[in-house]
Amino acid sequence: MEPLVYLINCPPGWIKTPPLGIEYLQKYLEKENVRTRVNDLNITLYRGLKAEKKRWLALDRKFEENLFNYVESKHHYVIQEIMDDIRFVPFIGLSLYKRNSIFTLILAEKIKRAYPDKTIIIGGPHTLFMKIQKKKMSEKFNWVIGEGEIAVRDIIKGKRKGIIVHEELKSLDNLPFLDFKDFNLSLYGSFLPLLSSRGCIKKCRFCAENRLYKSFRQHSPLYIAEQIEFLLKKYGINNFSFQDSLINADQGWLEQLCRLIITKNLRINWEAQMAVRKHPSPGLAGLIKKSGCFNLFIGLESASDKVLKLMDKGFINRDAFNFFSQLKKADLHFEISLIFGYPGEEEDDFRETVDFIVKNKKVIPKIAQVNPFVDYFSDDYRISEQSLIRAFKFISVIREERIPYTKSFINNLIYAD
Ligand code: SF4
Repeated sequence: MEPLVYLINCPPGWIKTPPLGIEYLQKYLEKENVRTRVNDLNITLYRGLKAEKKRWLALDRKFEENLFNYVESKHHYVIQEIMDDIRFVPFIGLSLYKRNSIFTLILAEKIKRAYPDKTIIIGGPHTLFMKIQKKKMSEKFNWVIGEGEIAVRDIIKGKRKGIIVHEELKSLDNLPFLDFKDFNLSLYGSFLPLLSSRGCIKKCRFCAENRLYKSFRQHSPLYIAEQIEFLLKKYGINNFSFQDSLINADQGWLEQLCRLIITKNLRINWEAQMAVRKHPSPGLAGLIKKSGCFNLFIGLESASDKVLKLMDKGFINRDAFNFFSQLKKADLHFEISLIFGYPGEEEDDFRETVDFIVKNKKVIPKIAQVNPFVDYFSDDYRISEQSLIRAFKFISVIREERIPYTKSFINNLIYAD
C-alpha cells in the first residue's frame, strides 16, 4: 500500500546518526494511522559520493549551492528514484536545516513542477530564518515552524494549511518509542540518537532554541530508561547520543535517570550537552560517570564576565571554573565551545578568555568548538573580520599550549587543521 506521506532528509547534513526529527514525526504519524515512508537522502548520497565526503560536514556555501546540480548531472538516477517513489504519494515532507536548505528548496520546486497537485510540507529549524511571507513561498508550500508532529498531522488530515507556527505536544511520554525501523543503521556511526527534552530552560541571546520551541518539556526519566532498554534489546547498540539542548536542565531529573540506568544495569555509553550550573547538585557528577557518560559538551562561550552577561549565559567565570572542577574530580570527560567576536567583546575580554583557558588547561580536557560570532538573526549574516582574527589567534594559542581540541569542528566556520 502506498504511503500517505513521504518524508525526505536532504543533504548535506549530519551523518553520524539517523535524523531524529523525521524519526519522531514518523512515529507520531503512524500512531495517528498515517502511512509513512522515510528517505534519508543525505546518508545515501554521503555514502555514494565518495569524492565529496570531505566537504560534507564543512561549512562550504559553494558546495551547498552546487550539490543539487552535481547530483542531478552525475547521479541523475538518485533524484529520479525519488520522483518515481512519490508518484502516487499525496504528501511530501522535507526537513530544512541551514546547510541543506538550498538542496531542499530546489528539490521541493522540482517536485512541485512535476506534480503540482502534491502537498509539500517544509519543516525543520531553518524555517525560522526563511522570509516565507516576503518570498510568497507560502502559496506553493506548507510551512511548519517549530515542532512538526501536530502541524503535519493537521495538514494531512486537511484541517490546516499554509504557515503553521508552534503547535507543540503537551506530553512527550505519549509518543511511541523510537525504533529507527526505516533507517539502515549500518550506514551511520555506532551511536543511536536520543532526545529526552524539547526546548531549553536558558535564553542565551545568540541562540535560536527558544524561538524554535515555545515551552520546555521533558520525557520522564522512566520513559527514557525504558526507551534505552528497548533499543538495546532491538539492536544490541549500547552507545547513545542525547541531542537535547541540555541534559542537566533539571538536575533532579538527571539524577533519577542516572539511577535508573545504574539499577537496571543497562551498561551503556552516553554523551550529551550540558550547561554550567551555579549550584551543581552534590554527587551528581559521580552518578553521571557511573551511569556510563563518556563525554559532555558544554557551551562556555566566553570567560569574560562582561561578555557572559551580554550573552545572558546566566553564570560567571568563577561558576564555570567550579563546575568544571567538579566534573574533573568525578573523572568525567568534557569538551567546551567558545564564541569570539560577540558584539561588545573587546580585546581585554578576549584576553581574559584566552588566559582562563590557558590557566585551567589541566581542568578543561578539550576545546570542542571555536566559533567566530555570526548573527543568524540578521538579514545578511556574515562573520566579522574581528571574530575571525580572534578565533584564529585563539587557535594558535591552544596549539602552542598543546591544549587538546577537536580537529574538525562540526557546524563550525573554521578548520583548525
Ligand atoms: S543553553 Fe544552549 S540551547 Fe539553551 S539557550 Fe543557551 S545556547 Fe541555546
